[in-house]
Amino acid sequence: MTTFTDRAAAILPGGVNSPVRAWNGVGGEPVPIASARGAYVTDGDGREYVDLIGSWGPAILGHAHPTVVQAVQQAAASGLSFGATSAREVELAEEIRGRYAPAERVRLVSTGTEATMTAIRLARGATGRAKIIKFAGLYHGHSDSLLVAAGSGLATSGVPDSAGVTPGTAADTIVLAFGDEDALTDAFAEHGQQIAAVITEAAPANMGVVRPPLGFNRLISTLCRNEGAVMIVDEVLTGFRAGPAGYWGVERDEDLAAGVEPWQPDLVTFGKVIGGGMPVAAVAGRADLMEQLAPLGPVYQAGTLSGNPVAVAAGLATMRLLTDDVYQRVAAASEALSGGVSEILTDAGITHAVGRAGTLFSLFWGLGVAPIAFEDVARQDTAQFARFFHALHDAGVYLPPSAYEAWFVSQSHGQAEIERVLDAVRAWAATEA
Ligand code: PMP
Repeated sequence: MTTFTDRAAAILPGGVNSPVRAWNGVGGEPVPIASARGAYVTDGDGREYVDLIGSWGPAILGHAHPTVVQAVQQAAASGLSFGATSAREVELAEEIRGRYAPAERVRLVSTGTEATMTAIRLARGATGRAKIIKFAGLYHGHSDSLLVAAGSGLATSGVPDSAGVTPGTAADTIVLAFGDEDALTDAFAEHGQQIAAVITEAAPANMGVVRPPLGFNRLISTLCRNEGAVMIVDEVLTGFRAGPAGYWGVERDEDLAAGVEPWQPDLVTFGKVIGGGMPVAAVAGRADLMEQLAPLGPVYQAGTLSGNPVAVAAGLATMRLLTDDVYQRVAAASEALSGGVSEILTDAGITHAVGRAGTLFSLFWGLGVAPIAFEDVARQDTAQFARFFHALHDAGVYLPPSAYEAWFVSQSHGQAEIERVLDAVRAWAATEA
């Protein structure tokens, strides 16, 4: 009998439309998902799982939130796409700026990849310089100049770089170890006037979750300002999830509490949460830089479906539902789950570390201390994670199928869901210890 997996593999490369979905990091056959609601996903056979993928970030309210679904239905009934400006795009952009002050101007696009690609082009166009600095293990989507030493699916499959990226493109990308202040300072000393931008995740979350060492983001900001380079803060994953103003907001609040002037990104990218599960992303930032974009300036960027009315309706409805109460619930779920899992593993003598940044977290397998650089992250015991993943999957918990990904919770992950996960972890730990 032909299985779904056979059929998928016969038409989609690897049976998927995005690599990590193929379970290449854990082995086995991925189960197709048929529907999702709240904290749960249901597979084609009607089996329900506590979902810890959350569509890789967007589902912060839980799946199929009735208000968001209704907004989408109403928008769809009024036309799927106009190819002309509409009011909701302005409202979504205002909603973003209202929560994230450095986003003085906003350009909506459809994917995080487009957002970071545009930010790089804009930085190069505005500075007239070619080189960019990125950090090993950080993922900014799959545009050529950023597919060098990237995290996420590349970390999972052990592919350091993609074929098809020309040496010329890669040559303009300088890769440094995340958190290495000396390497960053030296790179500016060596290439200063050639560096267009430094791109960094506000907090790395594509090689597991890494809290940036104290002062590291500020150092990037200072060096960029002193050398006339652009600091691009990628908040595609962390934006409006790690905290109400992304991970930048977490550091801003810490700085304000310490009486220190917060650092500011020049450009920032968003995705995931701002689309509420639909394809919406954005590049945003300083007005003078953003106004270099066409039609005002010489840096070209465009999109047939940019600011799509149905997608924007989902994003807008989602953003409007993101109250302090939601963030408190997400934080509580994140703490209860990460703390609970860690306690069980510790009791069972299983070496691990928890990486945390705002409400985001991930587990590092076989490492006693939460790592900062990808070199250390890569020492994880991925075989142990694979056993863990399958045991939890069998018990009705759907984890991201890779040791290099964050665990995504939502406001719908309440005590019942967390207990179900912890029970599964306990059962596995007993077999593993
Ligand atoms: N930047 C970051 C930090 C991301 O996590 C991702 C996706 N996981 C991207 C960029 C790319 O976004 P997309 O998959 O929408 O192209």
